[in-house]
Amino acid sequence: MAEELGATVGKVFLVGAGPGDPGLITVRGLRLLQQADVVIYDHLVDERLLAEVPRAAELIYVGKLASQHTLRQSEINILLVVKAQEGKRVVRLKGGDPFVFGRGGEEAQVLAGSGIPFEVVPGVTSAIAAPAYAGIPVTHRAHASSFAVITGHEDPTKPTSRLDWEKLATGVDTLICLMGAQNLTHIVAQLLRHGRAPETPIALVRWGTWPTQETLVGTLADIVELAAARQYGAPAIAIVGEVVRLRDTIQWLDNRSPVE
Ligand code: SAH
Repeated sequence: MAEELGATVGKVFLVGAGPGDPGLITVRGLRLLQQADVVIYDHLVDERLLAEVPRAAELIYVGKLASQHTLRQSEINILLVVKAQEGKRVVRLKGGDPFVFGRGGEEAQVLAGSGIPFEVVPGVTSAIAAPAYAGIPVTHRAHASSFAVITGHEDPTKPTSRLDWEKLATGVDTLICLMGAQNLTHIVAQLLRHGRAPETPIALVRWGTWPTQETLVGTLADIVELAAARQYGAPAIAIVGEVVRLRDTIQWLDNRSPVE
């Protein structure tokens, strides 16, 4: 119909790029990149993935750092709609999984509301991949039957929190906290205040799955001090729980044989 009217609407693909290592994008995600007319991508997307995009395609960086927003979310939403209305195949490439703290849900709402056809291509989230690359399984039959993924980016001065710390602190075995690098002190304080034991192990994984990956292990009692001494900044995730101890025996990244 649209074609008869001379206005072919394109399509937007909300694609998860994976956590960093370019080998962790999905097969479908990679194929879509290779056929894209426009790629709108974020901070934390590896250059090697962008090398897969056809030469003629338009690449638009809308990366967001906590400190500096290149484009506001509302502007990104408009860009998606406009490019699709031009009849383009638009890949919206987002770090990790598009629906895990990536505002992909909001982008999908805007597309649905504007009548733009879209598809979602899930990705490997850093919430699970970064621990895995650090030798930490988020569940384990003997140590953890549940895990929760939370944002650490809440403003600590806000009087009310969307996070129910009382339940989270002791209600799940493994707690995975994204975007918490600047708020580590607050997060650890909340967990301790609400009953998680000070000797609980915690790992911070920075640049998980990237060649620069680093892991720091401590306990709730000492991690704040350890992280401050190492100037541990973003992008990092925190993993809290007994599973962190398994890293001692199953970390593999640093022991990889040359044959990969
Ligand atoms: N949608 C993404 C998360 C976006 S929020 C996903 O599914 O992974 C951005 C936060 O994710 C960062 O502040 C950091 O906490 C975490 N993050 C993303 N990539 C990471 C990586 N490679 N290593 C460690 N943390 C990462």
